[in-house]
Amino acid sequence: QQAQAPQQEGPAEGCVIKNVIGVVSGKGGVGKSLVTGILARELSRRGAKVGILDADVTGPSIPKMFGMSGCHAYAQDNLLVPLETKGGIKVMSANLVLENEDDPVLWRGPVVAGAIKQFWGQCAWGELDYLLVDMPPGTSDVALTVFQSLPVEGVVIVSSPQDLVQMVVGKAVKMANMMDVPVLGLVENMAYVTCPHCAEKIFPYGPSRLQETADHFDLVALGQLPIDPVLAAACDAGSFEQSVPDGLLPEAVQTVIQVAE
Ligand code: ADP
Repeated sequence: QQAQAPQQEGPAEGCVIKNVIGVVSGKGGVGKSLVTGILARELSRRGAKVGILDADVTGPSIPKMFGMSGCHAYAQDNLLVPLETKGGIKVMSANLVLENEDDPVLWRGPVVAGAIKQFWGQCAWGELDYLLVDMPPGTSDVALTVFQSLPVEGVVIVSSPQDLVQMVVGKAVKMANMMDVPVLGLVENMAYVTCPHCAEKIFPYGPSRLQETADHFDLVALGQLPIDPVLAAACDAGSFEQSVPDGLLPEAVQTVIQVAE
């Protein structure tokens, strides 16, 4: 079954966005935003111009991670102007247009869809090498809106160890296939804990099923991230960009770069 591809609109006049890459997950809370942030920072560290479109409208965590809590995007010449992180990553998110970021987003589907379309087509992104889209979790109609409205070149699927057991990954794969968007590969987040004393890797959820699941769905395994309390605290404190170690998820970063070439 193939979903119909409607007419896609381009970004705002004068903006050039070379590559749009989605980060998806079968369900929420598995670290999709963290992986989006890591990819953005790694690409930016290599000299690319990077933006993040936070399409996880009802659970936006990107602005907080990047220390933008309480910040507001403004409009200029009828376009929303994305905010820039300290490292120069441009960010647009529902949290940046809400009066009070603690307010729940009680928008109905069409309003959410409209917001995402606006973040794409009426936003002054300027020139970007990569626009990373932190997708809404799961396979909601909002996720479909993103695929239908933006020229997503490929998606990285993020999963937790439990997702790999329960085959939640399959839903994300199916959705991408239906939308005719290539799956670039699979990342396992919170795969293990590193012992602070002896650096041994402890697998609280049992041995990793990353490779097995990737093989099952004919995907590329793009690496694992440990449960990292320091990183979690940095995300909460808004200092992710300054605290995240260099060189995380090298296979995933390389794959994104290759897609762009
Ligand atoms: P999602 O975007 O899938 O909803 P997030 O990236 O917002 O998930 O992560 C959910 C929460 O879990 C956040 O508080 C985040 O800091 C934390 N978290 C995610 N991945 C890790 C990790 N590898 N180690 C520690 N905490 C993590």
